[in-house]
Amino acid sequence: MVKRYAIRVAGRVQGVGFRPTVYRHAVASGVSGFVRNTPSGVEVEAEGESAALDLFLQRLREEPPPQAVIEAMTVREMPPVNEQDGFRIIPSEGSGDLLVGLPPDLALCADCARELADPADRRHRHPFINCTNCGPRFTIAESLPYDRARTTMRVFDMCPDCRSEYENPGDRRFDAQPVACPKCGPTLRFLDASGQEIQTTDPLSEAARRLREGQILAVKGVGGYHLCCDAHNENALRLLRERKARPAKPLAVMFSSIEEIRRELILGEDEARALASPAAPAVVLRRQPGCTLARLLSPDTDDVGALLPYTPLHRLLLEAIHPLVMTSGNLAEEPIIKDESELGLFLGRIADGVLSHDRAIVRRCDDSVIRFAADGRVLLRRSRGWTPGHVPLPLEGPPVLACGAEVKSTFCVTRGREAILSQHIGDLSEYPSVTFYREALADLLGLLRIRPEIVAHDLHPDYASTRFALDYPAARRVAVQHHHAHIAACMAEHSLTGPVLGVALDGSGYGPDGMVWGGEFLVADYAGYRRAGHFKPYRLPGGEGAIRHPSRMAFSVLAAELGAEAERVAAEQWPAWTAEQRASLMRLIESGAHSPWTSSAGRLFDAASALLGLCDEISYEGQAAVRLETAADRDERGAYPSTLIEKNDCLQLDFGATWRTMLEDRRRGLALGRLAARFHRGVAEGVAAMSRALREREGLNRVALSGGVFQNALLLEWLLEVLKKDSFEVYSHHQVPPNDGGLSLGQAVVALAVEKAT
Ligand code: ZN
Ligand code: ZN
Ligand code: FE
Repeated sequence: MVKRYAIRVAGRVQGVGFRPTVYRHAVASGVSGFVRNTPSGVEVEAEGESAALDLFLQRLREEPPPQAVIEAMTVREMPPVNEQDGFRIIPSEGSGDLLVGLPPDLALCADCARELADPADRRHRHPFINCTNCGPRFTIAESLPYDRARTTMRVFDMCPDCRSEYENPGDRRFDAQPVACPKCGPTLRFLDASGQEIQTTDPLSEAARRLREGQILAVKGVGGYHLCCDAHNENALRLLRERKARPAKPLAVMFSSIEEIRRELILGEDEARALASPAAPAVVLRRQPGCTLARLLSPDTDDVGALLPYTPLHRLLLEAIHPLVMTSGNLAEEPIIKDESELGLFLGRIADGVLSHDRAIVRRCDDSVIRFAADGRVLLRRSRGWTPGHVPLPLEGPPVLACGAEVKSTFCVTRGREAILSQHIGDLSEYPSVTFYREALADLLGLLRIRPEIVAHDLHPDYASTRFALDYPAARRVAVQHHHAHIAACMAEHSLTGPVLGVALDGSGYGPDGMVWGGEFLVADYAGYRRAGHFKPYRLPGGEGAIRHPSRMAFSVLAAELGAEAERVAAEQWPAWTAEQRASLMRLIESGAHSPWTSSAGRLFDAASALLGLCDEISYEGQAAVRLETAADRDERGAYPSTLIEKNDCLQLDFGATWRTMLEDRRRGLALGRLAARFHRGVAEGVAAMSRALREREGLNRVALSGGVFQNALLLEWLLEVLKKDSFEVYSHHQVPPNDGGLSLGQAVVALAVEKAT
């Protein structure tokens, strides 16, 4: 019996070869009808014998295109129309593809990699090979719907061979917008330090030769330029660090193959899978015992951020020389550079030359960075490969713009039950980052045609993102406390409803009492929170400056815990300080002038690191904590003590005994690694003790963990261990970063809940 079905598919179903896959399954199953893109996804009408239709539906469900994500599929029966034309792909319906958006950039696929290496293939060694399953998307689309004419590939006229593949529904390159070949595609070029193009038929070999000589090059990638040098060449590394004024922050390394990574770094299955995934992030891995990689790549830690070549250009370059440092082409915390016109900043100063090409980049997008910890994936930076993919929301409402925080900033816009986070933008205290922020926001709102009705922002009056939010024309504004936003982001990831115990261990965030919060225990739902507990506060001597000088924070802790004794300990610990310097610090702490109270967990790690002599002054955010984590002896079982104190209807977690015991251990000459480990375990035990006390009081067994301190894999592991032993239900971040990069998601969901409640 002949039937006809109307099928609607929603999810990531455009720009990923969905329609040709439907076409192939239809032809193979013997059904007729059509498939087309609609503003909300893909629509299919299929007609045939019931058995054929069943087979077609089964194939569609079981063998969707590799990059598609089917979120919903509805099938409705309708009267047959006696279809005569077989199966067809027909033009898009409506004004186009606005709800489905655009896929993220996809790493080189296995089929294209094979063709790239095949001397018989017409795209042999073509640095811009791609297909429906791979290639740039987000970074080349000028507007939507996603069609070649609205990408930066529009300036390249397809040759007849490429066009016939592009138009053939049976071909892997059907409707692959960036399709190209050596005859019709973009071309490479090499510029020297003065910006002059070098006459060569082989810019790639020129680049490889110079890298071998120890030069530093800019290399054009997907979402911007990298700065690149031979990862084995200590001189080149030293030069790169010097020129970039980046003495110690870890540099990412691109390897030629998974095997090469395995020789140097400890690689688990999850990590290997992530490296080879279409998102192709940098994955943070521990060094093997016999690792030959230069110490200078990451002097503070045993970890190295590893990448695999994710474009054909990278693949070809890495075949010639490997491994290579691939760090964002930017100055300090400024945005990554994407246009040749911006290269003036680099050429002759940081880079000795540029491997470039003529496929323009529409929007900047840095590499994403992830690591695997005790309970799964942790995103440290969510950017290329994820953006502009959405995070599903637990509630919906009018469109929200959430402006994020200050460092590691992102913003977030909502549409129905979707939250779309921006790419990584960076530190908004740098003016060029604010420009990038404005650019990226106008761009994303325009691309998705969203007009926010509600604007959510942090409570901090001096964040550039807050000032931006207050100027933004919107019907309503919602100010969200920093740590409430962190916890709401974690809850939203797991679609948790109802109150949870939120544990926010963070660097700093503005408290409504004007203090600097950051070690917070919140009884929270989306609409609100109550501060049920916090870390005991110490003075932040001299304010923000103490963040760059962990030894000042350590002195503050000593002053609070040891009183007059503190000066003597400090004199031993920091012999370079003069008596006058110690006295003036003491005056700041005692008077409180320019020295706010802070309950920050991050500052405690800073203080511990400084007290153990690991770090007096930092050159990048988190450096003191990274050194402390690296020093910790993982076999140590001991933990420093802490106590719970009731104060003004709130529980305080007091680490006073921690500091005294730590100093005692040091006096006894215990190994540094044991002290660092006992500190980590002590914080984990203290947090667990607080959680038990609040479980009693509040009747809550669900704990949501968030905040930048959870980038510390050791703390996360040990805390999960104790909380799970205590039978807590524990939730941590897997979709957005625990640091401020994930904050905008939390702000958005709080704004939606507040809107609903009013
Ligand atoms: Zn491909
Ligand atoms: Zn061609
Ligand atoms: Fe934070």
